[in-house]
Amino acid sequence: MSESGPEAVAEVGEFRTRVRAWLDENNLSPGPAPGFDAQVAQLGRVRRALFEAGWMRYGWPEAVGGLGGPALLRAVLGEEVASRGLAEPGIYSMVEVLAPTMISYARPELAAEMVPRLLDGSEQWCQGFSEPGSGSDLASLRTRAEQRGDRWVINGQKVWTSLAQFASRCVLLTRTGPGHDGITAFFVDMDSPGITVRPLRTMHGVDEFAEVYFDDVVIGESRMLGRPGDGWRVAMDLLPYERSTCFWHRIAHLFTRLDRLLDQTAEADDTALGAAYLALHTVRCRSRGTQQRLGGGAALGPDTSIDKVLLATAEQQLFDTARDLLPGEIELADSGWRPEFLYSRAATIYGGTAEIQRNIIARRLLDLGKE
Ligand SMILES: Cc1cc2nc3c(=O)[nH]c(=O)nc-3n(C[C@H](O)[C@H](O)[C@H](O)COP(=O)(O)OP(=O)(O)OC[C@H]3O[C@@H](n4cnc5c(N)ncnc54)[C@H](O)[C@@H]3O)c2cc1C
Repeated sequence: MSESGPEAVAEVGEFRTRVRAWLDENNLSPGPAPGFDAQVAQLGRVRRALFEAGWMRYGWPEAVGGLGGPALLRAVLGEEVASRGLAEPGIYSMVEVLAPTMISYARPELAAEMVPRLLDGSEQWCQGFSEPGSGSDLASLRTRAEQRGDRWVINGQKVWTSLAQFASRCVLLTRTGPGHDGITAFFVDMDSPGITVRPLRTMHGVDEFAEVYFDDVVIGESRMLGRPGDGWRVAMDLLPYERSTCFWHRIAHLFTRLDRLLDQTAEADDTALGAAYLALHTVRCRSRGTQQRLGGGAALGPDTSIDKVLLATAEQQLFDTARDLLPGEIELADSGWRPEFLYSRAATIYGGTAEIQRNIIARRLLDLGKE
């Protein structure tokens, strides 16, 4: 049976009802402490509680501490967490990207040892892909890994690595030869000698990401993800996860912000609110279809660039609408709207920029040629 069949739908509905009842009884709301450190601590608390209660284990294979079931269950859990504002949505989503990579590419015993630590909130991990000069053109990355016997020695620099300063491990792309086939992925312990992390501040005032330097960092062969030269495949295989369950979670978060805006603009008779709702609803419909295709066993590819463009557009439109309808609130007031407005500008950058997504849609979906 495919994950999108009727049994799966019933299973998903029952799961949602049970999760909601549990969350009603168990208060996981964040405390009053401000700042990103507190958000990361809250994320650990939420994951731990959800793991202990079993919810965080549904939708993951038993081999890595899961309880099985369709991946859609993870999306439902994420939606409930986002709707109740229990965890910062961006960092909550990291599990969705990094755990599937480990399950697909790490040696089974390594995945079995490590993935539960991510699910149960005892560890944060980070994704070391981008480098100075290698963002959109990821295949030009230069961080080297050189083989010395059964060990590899890593030298180079990563940048914009989200959560690096909190992370115990990193899924790292390195260069081991020329071209796309010369990229190799490793699972690196962040406390390895030779790693230096320098936090970077976003324009919304948060040390969310970092520069990460690797100076003669030695790593064992057993930490390679896949085989030498599989790194590009690892990077491409992340996309279906980055753009399915993660998006569902973020859309749920954005709907909470639309509700807040509606509350604060009760008198407004503005078509902009309708347009913002329509943009969110459109990406939600699109995302639902994407998850059903993924659940049905389809291999997702360039078509997910549509989801990415729709999500980033809807997110920015929502916060633009807030700025228009709440004059001065973003520029002058010390409210929650300002950091979220500023962070929404990043939506057209992280996970592949808007321009790159449109290039992909033009070339690979519409067959419009190279330039
Ligand atoms: C909040 C945030 C979190 C992030 N977290 C991580 C992380 O955890 N791990 C990680 O590895 N990376 C992370 N990134 C980095 C992100 O993946 C890169 O910023 C992104 O891929 C763009 O790369 P770049 O910044 O080098 O910009 P560039 O690639 O230099 O692009 C600069 C501009 O040129 C445009 N451009 C580039 N090439 C073309 C082209 N061929 N055609 C048309 N326009 C083009 C781009 O669209 C962009 O507008 C994060 C970024 C942000 C903002």
